Amino acid sequence: STLQSAALARVKPSATLAVTARARELKREGRDVIGLGAGEPDFDTPENIKEAAIAAIRRGETKYTDVDGIPELKAAVAAKFKRENGLSYETSQIHVAPGGKTVIYNALVATLSPGDQVIVPAPYWVSYPDMVLLAGGEPVTVVGHEADGFKLKPAALEAAITPRAKWLILNSPSNPTGAAYTGDELEALAAVLRRHPQVWVLTDDMYEHLIYGDFDYRTIAEVAPDLFERTLTVNGVSKAYAMTGWRIGYGGGPKPLIDLMRKVAGQTTTNPSAISQWAAVEALNGPQDFIAERAKHFEARRDLVVSMLNQATGIRCSTPEGAFYVYPSIEGLIGKRTEGGAVIDGDDAFAAELLDAEGVAVVQGSAFGLSPYFRISYATSENVLEEACRRIQRFCASLR
Ligand code: PLP
Repeated sequence: STLQSAALARVKPSATLAVTARARELKREGRDVIGLGAGEPDFDTPENIKEAAIAAIRRGETKYTDVDGIPELKAAVAAKFKRENGLSYETSQIHVAPGGKTVIYNALVATLSPGDQVIVPAPYWVSYPDMVLLAGGEPVTVVGHEADGFKLKPAALEAAITPRAKWLILNSPSNPTGAAYTGDELEALAAVLRRHPQVWVLTDDMYEHLIYGDFDYRTIAEVAPDLFERTLTVNGVSKAYAMTGWRIGYGGGPKPLIDLMRKVAGQTTTNPSAISQWAAVEALNGPQDFIAERAKHFEARRDLVVSMLNQATGIRCSTPEGAFYVYPSIEGLIGKRTEGGAVIDGDDAFAAELLDAEGVAVVQGSAFGLSPYFRISYATSENVLEEACRRIQRFCASLR
């Protein structure tokens, strides 16, 4: 018998973590490497949030808490959903866990039986299909093409739904494309879902506050209140408040689902860190103005990266609505050769050769379910982004 379980054997290691590890290795060898693989804000957690955590430690808030969150944080989450999304959740309809990632995993483990399907629009965040597999379900991927802004079309959703479809996962703005759904686009998907009452919706709104221009952000339970009773709205403090290391995510949903998720947490993680929960209370209830200021910085970086990539030979980069990622096409480079003679036969080769030649670490589109593309995280300074894009331009120009 093998050490690895059958469930884990179906899972791929995280490709984004692999790129980061390879970049770190090259750095250790003394190479000048720019990592554009990591998905976290380069800004620091605001001072008032850190102070709230320190105060919580001093008050002795250092013990186990309610499994799915302290009442104060659930109240702050409910107030956030009301204030920003027009959604009314009771505190009994809120689940807090160590990161949005755990909220999603708890929901899948709580609800999937063998053979149950989860519709995952591609390009997708790397963890969705593998979390579905670990939970014993079957991911069904449906491509949102570049021509459609990388978004799921209602007809494609309709065609993917079977009697075994239990969930649709939505992620807007998206990791890896930055694409965000308008209210009308969400309504058109809701119209399909109305015909299929067996399908629940898990909407991952983690990048809600990283939205650019005058884009009007919407989440599906707000646009289609009749779906409220089968929607889990997932969000967290990691990206909006630069709190990736604190590990606090939350979800709002119907009480029967939230009760099942608490049952999972009660036998696995127990509560997220008590100290982090108090920090998250301050994040959600405290001043919010820095979020829009930081979003302005991200928007300037997006514009810089999109413009410089479009000046690179063979690359085509559309302008995303949000998040801190771009997802350029390398269709124009397929079949070309590097100076060393390697053939760029896809995005895996592109990412590997770019890292080798110019020390720029990006993630190949194959990891996100749509090729030939690559993902850049632009959550880094403009100087670094400019240098990285210059290197990408030089690399593309060197291909024959
Ligand atoms: N959802 C998406 C789309 C993400 O990109 C990430 C983090 O990269 C997460 C969820 C997880 O966030 P958290 O830090 O809250 O677990």
